[in-house]
Amino acid sequence: MPIRLLVVDDEVDFLESIVMRIKLRGFETHGVTSGTAALEHLEANPDSTDIVMLDIKMPGMDGLETLRQIKTSFPELEVIVVTGHGSQEYNRLGRELGAFDYLIKPIRLDTILERIEAAYSSRHPGSGD
Ligand SMILES: [Mg+2]
Repeated sequence: MPIRLLVVDDEVDFLESIVMRIKLRGFETHGVTSGTAALEHLEANPDSTDIVMLDIKMPGMDGLETLRQIKTSFPELEVIVVTGHGSQEYNRLGRELGAFDYLIKPIRLDTILERIEAAYSSRHPGSGD
């Protein structure tokens, strides 16, 4: 079964591009443009997702609050946080809230895929190969 990914990012062009590129690499990928939409998607489709790739800087509910709520309601999900701003403070806060990893845009596709697979493997030992 392919790894199932939920991508959350308010930049629609970035979101559509990254969802398409990740799909082409064989992952099952769904995109939403806000933290609220992410939580609604997870609540409506509770067994739809293995990994969440989550933008930090979003209007309304930001990525850190979204991360906190995801980890409260769906502790089995691994979350990779993404930002356009290299900030050790965001990194620290994200880790405290339980993020698996922290990536800074622009991010190479291979790096994203490598981190997604690492996050999945951390939850599914022996799933590799
Ligand atoms: Mg953003």
